[in-house]
Amino acid sequence: MADEPTRAREPEQRSLWRRYLEFPLIWKFAIALVAGAVAGLVIGEPITVIEPLGGLFLNLLQMIVVPLVLVTLVVGVSSVAVTRLGKIGLKAVAFYLLSSFVAITIGISIALVVNPGTGLSMPAGGDEEPEAAPELSEVLLDIVPDNPIGAMAEGNMLAVVFFAIVVGLALSVLQTSSDARTRSLADHVRRFFEGGTEIVFLIVKGVLQYAPIGVFALIAVTLGETGAEAILPLANLTAVVYGGVALQIAVYALVLTLFGVGVASFFRNAREAMITAFVTRSSGGTLPVSTRGAQRMGIREPVYSFTLPFGATVNMDGTALYVGASVVFVANVAGVDLSLGQIVSVVLVGVLASIGTAGVPGAGVIMLSLAITQAGLPFAAIALVAGIDAVLDMARTMCNVTGDLTGTRIIAQTEEGMLEDHDTATEAASEPASDEAAVEE
Ligand code: ASP
Repeated sequence: MADEPTRAREPEQRSLWRRYLEFPLIWKFAIALVAGAVAGLVIGEPITVIEPLGGLFLNLLQMIVVPLVLVTLVVGVSSVAVTRLGKIGLKAVAFYLLSSFVAITIGISIALVVNPGTGLSMPAGGDEEPEAAPELSEVLLDIVPDNPIGAMAEGNMLAVVFFAIVVGLALSVLQTSSDARTRSLADHVRRFFEGGTEIVFLIVKGVLQYAPIGVFALIAVTLGETGAEAILPLANLTAVVYGGVALQIAVYALVLTLFGVGVASFFRNAREAMITAFVTRSSGGTLPVSTRGAQRMGIREPVYSFTLPFGATVNMDGTALYVGASVVFVANVAGVDLSLGQIVSVVLVGVLASIGTAGVPGAGVIMLSLAITQAGLPFAAIALVAGIDAVLDMARTMCNVTGDLTGTRIIAQTEEGMLEDHDTATEAASEPASDEAAVEE
């Protein structure tokens, strides 16, 4: 008798889980986002007790980043010719530099029109030392790891990318060896890495089932900590950054259209990554989700396996935009009129500094410190921006990831054979019938 209710509950529980799996992922994300924002703003500081739930999501994502970059790049690089790889690389550098330049110009222009910060006074005693930015030569040298395992342990993405490219190139040379035994060994290694990519993507699909809880916790804690009261005095700056990001995303849509890419299907496949970036505030951490988005767009491995991790490290359009807007804000607070020379130097520093800044939460503040020092503005005002940095970081990270995906999609469009044939791509672009199907796929 006592067993009966338990047995009756079991199928019910299973069907609940089934229903959870079948509910479209994007709706789970959207509901978690809105509910988390409301909970954070209403409950405030005490909501931070749920922080570990968000931390778990971040760890799950980070756990998979290094294996993902390693296996996908080795497979991707070993399947294309070196010249092809060089072309993809050059296009990526050109797109990422150009889009960051456009973004910082948008940030400065909107800020010069709206003039955020006028009327605010300089905070007292905030004359701390600016954060040190890494030297460019150091950044470049660090790309070659002296210890690949160390680079993986530290999550030094550019070094992992470099190492994986070298392994992939070596593998492709072995694959064409005249010695049959060497060719067969290379074939085994390649299959090992191909199996690795399958494993990694299956894990990503599983992690995404936990994502709604992580999304809820991360957004609730961020807004609970920052609070509406902190945002209000700086509402102008927040509006400029969010408005600028919206404009930058419209620019991506325009560029995609010019290259003949369907905007609706692009964003349908990019939106999970965009929301993940928004709440995790880390382009690096979002990599597993953006990679999944690129796959569903029908983009082939040789393109996305390189352009996405590379973009997550060096391409920060949203951050550049935020730097531009915040420099104008700081100048207004300090009552300084920016000269054309100062503006030009901020643009240059903003674009170049993004190369050395990692895709982790809060990294943009280092770039901002650099730009403020470069423009010769008083450093104390940065304390005002830092107070709401998390809220600004959400929008700029979303923009960074959208920029990486836009570049990746356009490069795939312009490189022959780098998109799955039309039918498959369209099919892949559409939502899977259920998330369960996606997990079991
Ligand atoms: N959080 C951003 C990113 O990961 C970097 C920044 O702080 O601007 O892309």
